[in-house]
Amino acid sequence: MKNNYLIAANWKQNGTKKSLSNLAKGIIQTAQNKKITNSIILLPPSIYIENISTLLKQKTLRNKKISLGAQNISPYMDGAFTGEISANMLKDYNCKYILIGHSERRHVFLEKNKEIAAKVKLAIDSKLSVIFCVGETITERNKKQTKRAIAQQLKIGLSSTVNLIKKNTARLVIAYEPVWAIGTGRTAKSKDIEDVHIFIRKTLSIILGNKSKSIKILYGGSVNEANASSILKLENVDGALVGGASLNTKKFIEICSSI
Ligand code: PEP
Repeated sequence: MKNNYLIAANWKQNGTKKSLSNLAKGIIQTAQNKKITNSIILLPPSIYIENISTLLKQKTLRNKKISLGAQNISPYMDGAFTGEISANMLKDYNCKYILIGHSERRHVFLEKNKEIAAKVKLAIDSKLSVIFCVGETITERNKKQTKRAIAQQLKIGLSSTVNLIKKNTARLVIAYEPVWAIGTGRTAKSKDIEDVHIFIRKTLSIILGNKSKSIKILYGGSVNEANASSILKLENVDGALVGGASLNTKKFIEICSSI
C-alpha cells in the first residue's frame, strides 16, 4: 500500500523572480491549508534557487513536506568549468534533490549516458538525492525498443554508484518519462506505464539487489489535474514528475491532492 507520493515540479526555463516566488508561495500556502501529506519537490531554474530557498525557510511558509531541488548539476566537483553549477553550490541553498538524465538534457543538450553517470556519482557522493529520468524516444517505441533503451540508461547511469545507493536507497528516485509524452499532451496508456514500471523495478533489483524495493518510481509526461489520479492509482507508480502543469498553483495542487 502506497502512503506517501512524491510529486516533483519541474519549472524548466520558465518564469521570473516575481512569478516563481508567487507560484512557490501559492503552492506552499495551499499545500498547508489543504493539509497535503504527499511530499512535494520544487525544481526552480538555478538562478532562483536562493530565492525559493529563502521562502521555504520563512516561518509562515516552512513545510517539512516540501523540499528544494535543482534541474541540472555539473559533472565536476569544482574548477575551470565556465557556466556550471556544482553540487556544493546547490547544497549551500538547501537543495536536497537533483534532476539528472531529463530528456531535454539528453536530447537537446546531447548528454550521453556516461556524462549522466558522472553527474549521478557526483551528486550522490555529495549526499544529494537524484531524480534519475529514463524514457524511450518515439522511434525506440515504434521499434519496440523501449525496454532495451531504459535498461541501458539505468545500467550505465547507475554504474558508478551501485554501492553508495545500496547503502542508502533514499538517494535515488527514478522518473519514467516517455520522451514523446513530455510537453505534448499525450500520456502513455495505463497498461504501458504499469509494464515499464514493473520492468524498471526488475532492472533495479538486478542492479541494486533487494534493497531497491524501496526506491520510488515516478511517472512523467503530460501529467495534469485531469489524469493525475488515474496515473497515481496505478500499482507501481509512486508519484509524478510534472512540467507544464506545475507552473499553475491550482493545477499543481490538484495533482498533489488527487490521491
Ligand atoms: C517534464 O518536464 O519532466 C515533464 C514531464 O513535462 P510535462 O509535464 O510538461 O510533460
